[in-house]
Amino acid sequence: MVFSGLAERLQETFRKLKGKGRLTEADVDEAMKEVRRALLGADVNFQVVKNFIARVKERAVGQDVLGSLTPAQQVIKIVRDELAGLMGGTQSKLNLASKPPTIVMMVGLHGAGKTTTAAKLANVLRKQGRRPLLVAGDVYRPAAIKQLQVLGQQLDIPVFAMGDGQSPVDIARASVEHAIGTGRDLLIIDTAGRLQIDEEMMAELEAIKRTVHPHEILLVVDAMTGQVAVNVAETFNQRLGLDGVVLTKLDGDTRGGAALSVKAVTGCPIKFVGVGEKLDALEPFHPDRMADRILG
Ligand code: GDP
Repeated sequence: MVFSGLAERLQETFRKLKGKGRLTEADVDEAMKEVRRALLGADVNFQVVKNFIARVKERAVGQDVLGSLTPAQQVIKIVRDELAGLMGGTQSKLNLASKPPTIVMMVGLHGAGKTTTAAKLANVLRKQGRRPLLVAGDVYRPAAIKQLQVLGQQLDIPVFAMGDGQSPVDIARASVEHAIGTGRDLLIIDTAGRLQIDEEMMAELEAIKRTVHPHEILLVVDAMTGQVAVNVAETFNQRLGLDGVVLTKLDGDTRGGAALSVKAVTGCPIKFVGVGEKLDALEPFHPDRMADRILG
């Protein structure tokens, strides 16, 4: 189970609450304190937690939960709704071009899982009847081009590459023409990452964006890095204007803070989550289902 620590603590809190039958305001306050501790313990952004608790309390008071016949159930329902809302409410889908090809640009730091996710996404979209083309735009790491080609071969999805002697902007431009010429209706452009955000990287990503006008700019971040992932998302969003986030390595030992904070801090929804190294380990992100899973 993802976020097992957070899930256990919240479930325990609500078991206690349910055991009480009628609730006093003090009971609700005590439960909220525990929810707050559980969220902070899961590395959720401090301000996000503060606003979250305030909203739950306000709704609980406004709906006169205490006077109802099933007060604990109602508090839990409010928490569930607010948790889902925190993560974007309902599923956010990829932006698709009204006139193909759709251009998806993958961005992110080195090691986040960008190249793997590009291939996984191509696989998902092909299953939905699209004809994807993977584009090897990470020219600073020759191994990245090879990596994408190997992944493309495994999936039997074509990879457009021009080697490492061309600029990423030229590659991106040429790839769109190639896609049109070969009847591909969707491009997934892999771009170069760095160990940390730097000006040169951002300027290059902006240049690619200006050149091909992607319909979707997807940031890939590593869930294991917690609040760092949220900060990375904020910075990329300010420079590039992201359409969505892919949170990888959710199968690992992550506390969940990034999943719960990204949308609230940046305004960008999580669209997919990576749940393993295999090429079929990418899932659409459903905030409501995730909230249900956390609360059990
Ligand atoms: P890039 O530098 O951002 O392009 O990162 P890569 O795509 O090369 O991925 C870095 C490492 O993370 C590889 O070993 C991937 O197999 C691994 N990885 C990517 N996504 C996931 C995921 O969702 N779960 C797990 N466990 N590993 C992943």
